[in-house]
Amino acid sequence: MAEPAFSLCVYCGSRAGERPEFAQAATAVGQWIGAHGGQLVYGGGRNGLMGVVAEATRQAGGRVLGVIPQALVDKEQANHACDELHIVQTMHQRKALMAERCDAFLALPGGIGTFEELFEVWTWRQLGYHDKPVGLLNVAGYYDGLLSFLRHSMAEGFMGAWQLGLLQVGADVDALLPALVQAAGFGQELVALRAVI
Ligand code: AMP
Repeated sequence: MAEPAFSLCVYCGSRAGERPEFAQAATAVGQWIGAHGGQLVYGGGRNGLMGVVAEATRQAGGRVLGVIPQALVDKEQANHACDELHIVQTMHQRKALMAERCDAFLALPGGIGTFEELFEVWTWRQLGYHDKPVGLLNVAGYYDGLLSFLRHSMAEGFMGAWQLGLLQVGADVDALLPALVQAAGFGQELVALRAVI
């Protein structure tokens, strides 16, 4: 397989959620990554939306890199179909390796694990520890409540508009993913070219 055109780190639920739209969106994300010659970097499990996005990426011809802590290998069903599967000792090592191996981050619907990962890379971005784009895919309005609370936090003076502006929010895979990849410095032409190689 050729060098991936870009690497996107996806945080998402280890459950599939109640609505079919969630798995549909995870499938669309994997298909977009595969169709554009990209690499998925993710938590390395087969459960829930994590398994869905990995399988969709693989089936669409994309590369899949998983990072899972030893203690979660059984619980999250480590995905041995990954092109590259790292079994690490701690959650900190998992997050560090995922962050290191990607060009941009994207959160899909998920639970507290997803929230924690999203907030970490977002806060690290605003502190200048990295300059990789951070996206939030608001599928079926799942994050409406969170976005409303974030605006409330801004209105109450705990966050600047520029901080909120660092989070690229969208509901459409075909609009948000190209925007993230472009913000990471990869031109559309390169991504399109790599997709046909
Ligand atoms: P969840 O969104 O809760 O279903 O979790 C999604 C993924 O986040 C799973 O792979 C969890 O193992 C992972 N996760 C849970 N807690 C943390 C944490 N503190 N830091 C990083 N990842 C976590």
